This record gives sequence, C-alpha cells and structure tokens, in this order.
Amino acid sequence: MSNGTIDPLREIFHEVFGSSPQPEVYRAPGRVNLIGEHTDYNGGLVLPIAIDLDTRVCIRTTGEDSVRLYSTNLDESGLIELGKLHDRQDKWTDYVQGLLVELDRKGAELDGFDLLVDSEVPVGGGLSSSAALEVGVMGALTDVFGLELDDFEVINSCRKAENDFVGASTGIMDQYISYFGRGGTALLLNTSSLNYQAVDLNIGNHVLVVIDTTVSHTHGANQYNKRREECEEALEMINAEFGPGHLDSLSGLKVYQLEDLEKVLPGTLYDRTYHVVTENERVVDAADFLSIGETEEVGKLFYASHDSLRDRYKVSAPELDFLVDFALNFPIPGARMTGGGFGGSTIHLVPEEQLDEYVDGATRAFEEEFDVTPRSFVVQASDGAKARPTLSR
Ligand code: ADP
Ligand code: MG
Repeated sequence: MSNGTIDPLREIFHEVFGSSPQPEVYRAPGRVNLIGEHTDYNGGLVLPIAIDLDTRVCIRTTGEDSVRLYSTNLDESGLIELGKLHDRQDKWTDYVQGLLVELDRKGAELDGFDLLVDSEVPVGGGLSSSAALEVGVMGALTDVFGLELDDFEVINSCRKAENDFVGASTGIMDQYISYFGRGGTALLLNTSSLNYQAVDLNIGNHVLVVIDTTVSHTHGANQYNKRREECEEALEMINAEFGPGHLDSLSGLKVYQLEDLEKVLPGTLYDRTYHVVTENERVVDAADFLSIGETEEVGKLFYASHDSLRDRYKVSAPELDFLVDFALNFPIPGARMTGGGFGGSTIHLVPEEQLDEYVDGATRAFEEEFDVTPRSFVVQASDGAKARPTLSR
C-alpha cells in the first residue's frame, strides 16, 4: 500500500490527538458471504470472502490509564478509562472496550493508547464493519503491546467482545473471514469444527457486485434472535422425538431426513429447519461449482438460496427481493440477499461486459421503487488481517 493512503490518515490522527510520535496503521477487511446464510449459528457451512474494503486502525501508545478514540466515519470521539472497563457506554467504542475486557480476562496488562478508526466498509451495511473493527483493533493491540495470542484466541476474543460485551449475538463467520481471508479465494468454513477449505474463486469473466439497499428494518434484530430461538426449539423437538443427544445442531441433518421431520415439527419450525439443511447442501455444491468455473450453476444456487431465505426462513425484505427480481429479469446468472436480512445488502454475479448497464439499471429501478439510492461495490476476494495485518510495513 502506498504512503499516499497512509499519510492522510496519519495527518487526521495528528489533528485529533496531537503530533508525534507517529502511529502504526493496521487493517482488517469487511466480508461478503457468497452463500450459506443463517447456517453459522446452526453449526453449518458458510462460504465467505474477505473483500477489498478495509477498516484502518491507527494506534499510538501513551502510557496513560485511559484510551482516547476517534472514528472518522462517525466523526465521533470516545474515552475508555482502563479502571472502569466493565461499564458499557452503549456506543461504538463498546466494540473496542469489549476487546479490552477480553484481553484483561486473559491477564494482558495494557496501558493507555490513542486510536483512530477509518473504515472503507460501510458501517451497518451488512458487510461486517463490526468484525473489521474488532479484528483490526485486535491486530493493533496484539502488536503494539507484544501480546501472544494464537489465531483462535484472536478470533474468539473478537466474537466475545461483540456477543458478550456489545450484546449482538452473531456467529463466528465474520471475525473468521476478516482474519483468515485470502486473495482470490473463498473459505468453505465449517462453523462446527472451525476447519476451512480454501476454494478458488473461478468466476471467469464475471464480477461480484454488492448492492447495499442502505435500508435496515427496525424489527431485524428481534427477528434474528427469534430465528435463533426457533432453531434451538426445532433441535430440542427433534432430540425429544429421536432420543436425547441425537443431534448437536440442525446441520447434522441430511436432506433425505427432512421428510421424516415434517410429522415431528410444527410448520414454522419445519420451514426453518428445511432452510438450514438445504442451504448447507447448496454451500457444498456452490463451492464445487466455483472451483471448476461453473458460474451459471453457482448463480442458480444463489437464486435458490434467496428463495429459501424469503419463503422458508422469512428474513428477506421487499428491497432485497426487488433487487433479486431485477437480477432474474435482466437476466444475470445469480443474485441473493447476503447477511442477516431485513435490509442490508445483496450480491450479484454479473458478466463483466454488462457491469455498467446492470448497475445503472438496478440503481435507477430501485430509486424509482423506493425513493432511496442504493450503494454498489464491485468486490474482489482479498487478504484477511492474518495474511496482511498492517499498512505501514
Ligand atoms: P455491519 O457489521 O454489517 O457493518 P453491525 O450493526 O454489525 O453492521 O455493526 C455496525 C456497528 O459497528 C456500528 O453501529 C458501530 O457501532 C460499529 N462500527 C463499525 N465500524 C465502525 C467505525 N469505522 N467507526 C465507528 N463505529 C464502527
Ligand atoms: Mg456486524
């Protein structure tokens, strides 16, 4: 990365926190999940890529007993007193404070620092600015304080900061891919074993376009938690029917077993289970087709995933459905909602030569329908923070 990128950031850092010494600059990327939605908290499979949009973290130790923070995206400062680590502040700085709580639990002794965050990942747009923030800050802290954490301690501490301190119950995928992602590949991640397989992203003359609806429906968080509960309930009912300990997670089921469950589960829970089980199968197929360059087949799986999320799992939104319908009618090989749903982003497999026409058309149609301008990004599979932790070295 050229100094052209770092220097303006360091200038802002000096304006906010005062001059010298020079801060170090770390990075972690956002992500897009190609397929495998709502499977991560069900012990299932996901297929994310780290994208070429980074959260950059500038840090300088101060030796004081407090932490000063600033976010360029929100133009908002914050302060964390190291003596009051457990007092949540209900603002963005909780993501950083949650990490400090986790490090404190591990016995790490940190003193004060100044920290600036600057994110290319849209904040709250479903591309995981939250994990990019956690993983970027964690990389910064482990390096400047010389902490020795293994890969899974890094990822799990980030997840715990978000789950336990911030209070957002998310699976492990976001932190995992922001850390382990590799250029040109997707990771087929088994969220139960935490093993992954790198999958070459052979999409030929197609590009991956993310269209962010910029819409976020307020009932989304409740519904997300409700889906998690529904899956737990379905699992309990299956175990009650077939004997305790029969299944660790819904992802232990195979598609051929679904038929037997129709009699055991109420309709809603059957639909949720049906989505999880078939989605896992779609992830495996998509990984196979991606690696051999069968883009049309990958695209069909994208559409099938969207249908299942809309009809069986019921986490889509009119804005997401509209963009996927646009894709079907254009037509392009595939599109689907990505992320938790109820707003957020969609991903589209677009032939390169139709890129401008497609994005312009989708943008105009969306504006006409919803009176909102969506944001589009062409994304490339990029290195995570483990492969490339810093901008300055
Ligand atoms: P997503 O991860 O999809 O972007 P989330 O709701 O999970 O959406 O995370 C967004 C939250 O993360 C923001 O509301 C904010 O609290 C925090 N956050 C992420 N990036 C930044 C940033 N650059 N500056 C300040 N806060 C950030
Ligand atoms: Mg997030």
